[in-house]
Amino acid sequence: MSDILLGIKVDENTVCRKRLEIYRRTIERSPRINNGKITSLSPLDLKLIFDLYDEIFFNHWFNKKCSSRIEFSISKRMTRSAGMVKCSINKRSGEKNFILQIGVNFFFNYDELESEKNVCGIKTGDSLEGLLLVFEHEICHIIEFISYGKSSCRGKRYKTIARNLFSHVSSYHQLPTYRQIAGTKHGVSVGDCVVFHHRGRQKTGFVNAINKRATVMVRHEEGQYIDSKNNRYVKFYVPLGILEKA
Ligand SMILES: [Zn+2]
Repeated sequence: MSDILLGIKVDENTVCRKRLEIYRRTIERSPRINNGKITSLSPLDLKLIFDLYDEIFFNHWFNKKCSSRIEFSISKRMTRSAGMVKCSINKRSGEKNFILQIGVNFFFNYDELESEKNVCGIKTGDSLEGLLLVFEHEICHIIEFISYGKSSCRGKRYKTIARNLFSHVSSYHQLPTYRQIAGTKHGVSVGDCVVFHHRGRQKTGFVNAINKRATVMVRHEEGQYIDSKNNRYVKFYVPLGILEKA
């Protein structure tokens, strides 16, 4: 039944025209998205965008012919992938349901770096364009799951689906990660020795991880974290803006 989707092949110009139409209608209909710069996003926007794709690319196939339930969620914790699809398969009925999750910080941070931001191998000009391309990537995962019960965007089969439907030429994105923002704007990388001020005292430690804030390990004889040489540490979550390289 989903074979009908696998047989679709859309030429590149048509993809661009349809994508632009979705871009335009998203701005028109979402109370949170007023231009190409995303500053606020709700699962309702994801549902809106999905329905637009269903209408404009798939002639309402998902709404009318597909028995799967698709839910939408927003994550602030995703640090590498900007989108993700979770598929659950009911062992008895074989029914497949999905959660399409979007890592919202990638879009809020879109303008933090000046670099070129290709998504799925396609140049983007703003965060809404980036979001639509990530969405297309996730829709291809859903289609592959529905048809084959599993999905991997490293596989040849996935790549064919993504190329035929949306002219994608890559499975990756170049949206800025917190690590890249920390490195470029603040000159701080994982492993660096850093100083910062905490309650009026200067602390020195090393960066163990970088997310929205940096995780900094500071030597302390009563710390609960122990390394292989039996040194003890206390862990601090430090805003990137107040870190300095030691
Ligand atoms: Zn993927």
